[in-house]
Amino acid sequence: MRELPGGYWDAEGRLHREVELAALTGREEELLARSGGTGSAALVTEVLSRCVRRIGAVAPVTPDVARRLLVADRQYLLLRLREAAFGDLVRAHFVCPWPECGERVSLEFRLSDVPVTAGGERAPEHTLTLPGDCGDVVFRLPDGSDQEELSELLARNEAEALTGLLARCVRRLGDTGPPDARALAALPSAARAAIEERMALLAPRVEQTMEAPCSECGRTVVAPFDIQRFFFGELRTDSELLYREVHYLAYHYHWSETEIMRLTREKRRRYIDVIAETIEVLNSGA
Ligand SMILES: [Zn+2]
Repeated sequence: MRELPGGYWDAEGRLHREVELAALTGREEELLARSGGTGSAALVTEVLSRCVRRIGAVAPVTPDVARRLLVADRQYLLLRLREAAFGDLVRAHFVCPWPECGERVSLEFRLSDVPVTAGGERAPEHTLTLPGDCGDVVFRLPDGSDQEELSELLARNEAEALTGLLARCVRRLGDTGPPDARALAALPSAARAAIEERMALLAPRVEQTMEAPCSECGRTVVAPFDIQRFFFGELRTDSELLYREVHYLAYHYHWSETEIMRLTREKRRRYIDVIAETIEVLNSGA
């Protein structure tokens, strides 16, 4: 059974964690291929709402539900989707960072080995008593809606994006409700740091570095592994192939594009194998 490291809290305050995935079909592959290779938070939301069939008792998983999943839960789901569609093994190419080696090598690792840690405490909101005279703060953890809202700003101005994130996640500060920008700006840096530190501690985590031995020198290589970039980048390279496969099946079976695009990649490839075998048998005159 697959479970989100964090989980989805519904309006009644119930936590849902068990996930059921739908297969990635040609339609999703096409959507991803069009994404430009890096994807975006909005696209992650769309992919998840199409490919996650159920989270606990929550079905269907609407874009709004997918948007409100914690950052690590969304990464976790992308990993599991890739695993279900294309298997567990990842091959990555890069230059060994050890100075005596520096060879261009390919590394292999398994997605099931990517460490996933549950958060410090599961709750829809968390309370922290701030240092100094700042009182209590109530906050939620960052989710997909924050990523969608802030990713553009993050690329331009990280400090501003972090302030924006705090403004979105803090539900109550001291005796007042959600703080405005001025109240946040007035917050002593120690108090702000305390909130950010607690958020990091409480949030579930999917490790975004990978570790594997270099095939040339045998030493351990630690490299960044950006899950979103990996997921979209990998699918993008296959868009040409996707259309050739659709053409091949349409040509031999006379199925419509819509029908073929509803197949999973595995099914597509199986039919292609069957056609290839049949042609081989015909050619050998058997
Ligand atoms: Zn090496």
